[in-house]
Amino acid sequence: MSRKPRVSFHDFTSCEGCQLQVLNCEDEMLDILGTVDIVNFREAIDDRGDDYDIAFVEGAFTRESDRARLEKIRANAKLVVAIGACACTGGLNVLKNYRGIDKAMKTVYGERAEWYETSAALPIEAVIKVDAKIHGCPIPKQEFLEVVKSVLAGRKPQIPDYPVCVECKLRENVCLYHKGQYCMGVVARAGCAAWCPSYGGRCYACRGLISDPNNNAAKDVLNEFGLTMQQVMDEFRLFNGVFDVAQPPEGAKLPK
Ligand code: SF4
Ligand code: SF4
Ligand code: SF4
Repeated sequence: MSRKPRVSFHDFTSCEGCQLQVLNCEDEMLDILGTVDIVNFREAIDDRGDDYDIAFVEGAFTRESDRARLEKIRANAKLVVAIGACACTGGLNVLKNYRGIDKAMKTVYGERAEWYETSAALPIEAVIKVDAKIHGCPIPKQEFLEVVKSVLAGRKPQIPDYPVCVECKLRENVCLYHKGQYCMGVVARAGCAAWCPSYGGRCYACRGLISDPNNNAAKDVLNEFGLTMQQVMDEFRLFNGVFDVAQPPEGAKLPK
């Protein structure tokens, strides 16, 4: 009998909230455990091992000393899946790139800044090849489950490529623009069930952009409120800064 696929979770610079989302899949976890063996999952088990097929990697690359660990994960795994904004786009960590690394270090660590190692924050794709991405801060549970099922079935996962506005309207929310607020839902990738606008918050595009925002965005929303696509895109840096950097951080090899 062939062995079950072996799955491994790894974390780099992050809050580990995306791994918590995986742990939150309580109802589905027993089914998952029936089809895979989990080799590494620091938040849930003590076991450790290098023999795995699928690696889920959370967190941004923010220090050179992590390069070897990332490369080892890539060498061990047949499939590498980046989970969460930190791993997929660098996430909020990229904000320090704008501030300047030295200045950011002094702000956080003061006179002890030189005790710590850090470099420009980048998505893990800047260092290793990534086979799939689960976007979001944090990732939606349903999308994690969809990716696990599709990987096991050998099919391409169904990831939405339409804007959050679609899900927002399905939930019959009053658009935040009608309340005088700004919202990135017109260009952000759906799949979160419009979490933020449904609870009164703005969408900051933590799930990245849809593939063709200029053609697919809810232009009626922008037209109605006299906004241009560029004005909306200017807000994009919070979660997606690394793709918007006119001059990439020194030494950065940005993904295409
Ligand atoms: S993407 Fe968000 S929730 Fe996930 S690890 Fe990064 S900061 Fe935490
Ligand atoms: S712009 Fe924001 S609040 Fe308005 S419909 Fe789109 S997602 Fe909802
Ligand atoms: S509404 Fe926007 S910011 Fe909020 S979870 Fe969805 S994509 Fe992320």
